[in-house]
Amino acid sequence: MARRKVVAGNWKMNMTPTQAVELIETLKPLVASDEVDVIFCVPAIDIPAAVEAVKGTNIKIGAENMYFEEKGAYTGEIAPDMIVDAGATYVIIGHSERREYFAETDETVNKKVLKAFEHGLTPIICCGESLKQREQGITIDWIRQQIKIAFLEVTAEQAKKAIIAYEPIWAIGTGKTATSDQAEEVCFAIRCCIKELYNEEVAEAITIQYGGSVNAGNAAELFAKPDIDGGLVGGASLKPDFGKIVNYK
Ligand code: PEP
Repeated sequence: MARRKVVAGNWKMNMTPTQAVELIETLKPLVASDEVDVIFCVPAIDIPAAVEAVKGTNIKIGAENMYFEEKGAYTGEIAPDMIVDAGATYVIIGHSERREYFAETDETVNKKVLKAFEHGLTPIICCGESLKQREQGITIDWIRQQIKIAFLEVTAEQAKKAIIAYEPIWAIGTGKTATSDQAEEVCFAIRCCIKELYNEEVAEAITIQYGGSVNAGNAAELFAKPDIDGGLVGGASLKPDFGKIVNYK
């Protein structure tokens, strides 16, 4: 069976709860789709308002981050059951901005992935290489290592439900998109790595997105590739263009 495309927006640190509702009202009719799963990953404080605003639509709500402990003295962090109780069903884990500015590592990513599954949240697990790594020719080795650590102790049944977002760091928020061939090469390598870690069934079931300056003009070509199952979209997810990305055909 063909995998469904999944298009997720990463709102980053944008939109107050009031603005979130306004944006959702604008985007609702534009992202309606029977064929594509649509997720809005919003700032934690926006989740309750966003969940309310998307009721009765095809849009699901996700968080942009989550801590790996249940509760306690971790000032400022958001626990998994807070996200679940607020009504979100997805969570982005290990975005490159979190790795760069908040010192997240492959090991913390793994802890968060395990915790997300424990709480019934679907993780959107980010990986990606820097420009320097690409120029050194170590992209695939680097990504394979990120994937192997992220999936430590994740069961096959859990892995089947995971979403991996391949996001070359040099393409995020820069307007530079990987070519569809570059993106496919890495997404295919990720699927092969998952097959090695698990089996063919898991590799065929798992969702692998591309992210990095996806827009209304390049989505169709990227999403047409056999191993690219949709996208994680930053800047363009805050604009009506997001509807064109979801309805890319
Ligand atoms: C992202 O934030 O995950 C992202 C891919 O951003 P942009 O689409 O703006 O490059």
